[in-house]
Amino acid sequence: RADLAMYQSKASGRDTWSFFAPEMQQALESRARLEERLRLALQDGGLWLAYQPQIDRTRHLIGAEALLRWKDGVEGMVSPAVFIPLAEETGLILPLGDWVLDQACAQLAEWAKTPETAKLTLAVNVSAHQFQQPDFVARIRDVIARHSISPNLLKLELTETLLLKDVTEAAYKMEALKALGISFSLDDFGTGYSSLAYLKRLPLDQLKIDQSFVRDLLEDSSDAAIVDAILAMARSLGLQVIAEGVETTAQHALLLKQGCNAFQGYLFGRPGPSSQLDSALA
Ligand code: C2E
Ligand code: MG
Ligand code: MG
Ligand code: MG
Repeated sequence: RADLAMYQSKASGRDTWSFFAPEMQQALESRARLEERLRLALQDGGLWLAYQPQIDRTRHLIGAEALLRWKDGVEGMVSPAVFIPLAEETGLILPLGDWVLDQACAQLAEWAKTPETAKLTLAVNVSAHQFQQPDFVARIRDVIARHSISPNLLKLELTETLLLKDVTEAAYKMEALKALGISFSLDDFGTGYSSLAYLKRLPLDQLKIDQSFVRDLLEDSSDAAIVDAILAMARSLGLQVIAEGVETTAQHALLLKQGCNAFQGYLFGRPGPSSQLDSALA
């Protein structure tokens, strides 16, 4: 294409030729730099997990979602919306995912030491590449054994796109994990292409209503109708429902009225250090 014709650029004082427009070249370079920094962070630190509280209908803390955070020495805080897709494209998501699971299980082991926190569940996001590893089940089994934690307290958050890549394979792996005691939540629910037929084949425990439906719940009657439909469907399939992105008391009140089982969002707490959950417990 004409617009992808060679662009001349002045680099290091001499004429060089590139197949990309200068902006595109820059984007590629900054992406490569970020990838390198992320690789370093895995070795040298700068990564941690933030924990966001999840509460039940009676406002009791039932657990948390682990959300990965990265502060680079040069780039500063980098959003997961930037580095997770980058990690997925480069394959770094595999060591990164292992690191997250290890940290999450270490946290569960820590909580197990105190009666007040011993029953908290921890939800961990799992990316497609990670789940598709042939030895994913063995990896989960290993990390659980390494930290001697109760598998019943570990919940994996999967997405519809991940599961629909190969439903038979996904169902097989999920059954194996389920047998270990692991539970599953279907993240960002409503934004993908789930059908009842698929949902029925998968041993899910929970649907997580995407925050895009919660955001305009009070202003947009079709969002409220979608939430009603999700709750009705979940009931008939015997699934729990958690709403994410709950920011206002009005959203919470309506979701309660609609029959939602659990809630997560800024209204109840932002993602933060695990010590922050202690105040939520009080
Ligand atoms: P997600 O799993 O759907 O996580 C929910 C996102 O919504 C989080 O963004 C959270 O901080 C944000 N959030 C929570 N409550 C509210 C609220 O009340 N209002 C609003 N506006 N936002 C809220 P975050 O931490 O930036 O993570 C973004 C995405 O990155 C996550 O979406 C998840 O897909 C991915 N991610 C994060 N940590 C990991 C990880 O360890 N592994 C993998 N594979 N993905 C991760
Ligand atoms: Mg999630
Ligand atoms: Mg989500
Ligand atoms: Mg999301």
